[in-house]
Amino acid sequence: MFDYLIVGAGFAGSVMAERLAADAGKKILIIDKRMHIGGNAYDHHDDAGVLVHKYGPHIFHTNSREVFEYLSRFTEWRQYQHRVQAWVDGQLLPIPINLETINRMYGLKLTSFELPQFFEKFAEKRAVVKTSEDVIVSKVGRELYEKFFRNYTRKQWDLDPSELDAAVTARVPVRTNNDDRYFTDTYQAMPKYGYTRMFEKMLAHPNIKVLLNTDYREIQKAIPYNEIIYTGPVDEYFDYRYGRLPYRSLEFKFETVNKDRHQPVAVINYPNDYLYTRVTEFKYLTGQEHHKTSIVYEYPKASGDPYYPIPRSENTELYRKYQMLAAATHGVYFVGRLATYKYYNMDQVVAQALTLYSKITSQSRQEALAHGA
Ligand SMILES: Cc1cc2nc3c(=O)[nH]c(=O)nc-3n(C[C@H](O)[C@H](O)[C@H](O)COP(=O)(O)OP(=O)(O)OC[C@H]3O[C@@H](n4cnc5c(N)ncnc54)[C@H](O)[C@@H]3O)c2cc1C
Repeated sequence: MFDYLIVGAGFAGSVMAERLAADAGKKILIIDKRMHIGGNAYDHHDDAGVLVHKYGPHIFHTNSREVFEYLSRFTEWRQYQHRVQAWVDGQLLPIPINLETINRMYGLKLTSFELPQFFEKFAEKRAVVKTSEDVIVSKVGRELYEKFFRNYTRKQWDLDPSELDAAVTARVPVRTNNDDRYFTDTYQAMPKYGYTRMFEKMLAHPNIKVLLNTDYREIQKAIPYNEIIYTGPVDEYFDYRYGRLPYRSLEFKFETVNKDRHQPVAVINYPNDYLYTRVTEFKYLTGQEHHKTSIVYEYPKASGDPYYPIPRSENTELYRKYQMLAAATHGVYFVGRLATYKYYNMDQVVAQALTLYSKITSQSRQEALAHGA
């Protein structure tokens, strides 16, 4: 008899499995329909021997000490500061937009003190900031919005930024100095031997059994268990009772190039040219030394694996209905990006799972007390 059947071996499922087994002594069966653990963070060596991320580049960054320390039990880290450039008007410019982006683009020599006035001159005031377009246009003006954001967003979501919630671009920073790092979180590092090795360590506990290449519905009736932890799409769990929650998908095209380096930074964004949104060169992320290099092109598309919940108010409303169903479903816990229909980063999913674990353990403590144990 298993205490928990865990559906999905990504961050959400693996953190839950590890905590429940190693800390609470529970017996776990964790199932994934894919051929591997790690969910979307899975990495592997390609045919040329270059370590690549199968589902697109995953860069770890967090401000949470708790999350970083927790994951540090399962991996050493390689310090890594992520850098991205955008191909705009025939040149590569730092993104997020910073002092160098503006000076090079317009042939200016502004200082950090002068740049805010430059932005103010072009920023269009908005009484209410409702959409993604409002966010950017009210910060930097229409021209920069058109060159760096509008077409990228259209490619990525197949929606104009004016149709997307402000939340999508609300966190896009604009810098008045020359800081060209993509993130500024306290902890920025990559698992030294890759994500999959880290997941292997998390799941290497005698109380955890891993079953791959299996949809949980194929075996659910045949296996005795007490409760479920579900990290798949919430609408699928309820057989799409209220309709499908919309997702955006991606097609990844990998290529190995017969030279040491392909591009000057880890990621190049192509807001205005080509059908792909960005190209990533993995050796920057992993620090691997190899005489060849592997890259991936990302082509956004409507159908396929559910990758990005689409942040529009009507989708949030539809999710609320599923959330109410989920709350009323006893013996099943919903956690992770797909099960809570949120555009979460890896660290946020780890934090969400650690919080759920605390809730489950304090619940069972209270139940034990109530039964006089
Ligand atoms: C292209 C891309 C790039 C990203 N880049 C970053 C980044 O740079 N930094 C960052 O912090 N985050 C990034 N993320 C987000 C990150 O991938 C997620 O936060 C994280 O993987 C979510 O973990 P999860 O366990 O919730 O979901 P997942 O990793 O999706 O795991 C869910 C698992 O459940 C399994 N499953 C679903 N249904 C069933 C079923 N019926 N039976 C059995 N198994 C099932 C799936 O196969 C899957 O493996 C990125 C996401 C994408 C798509």
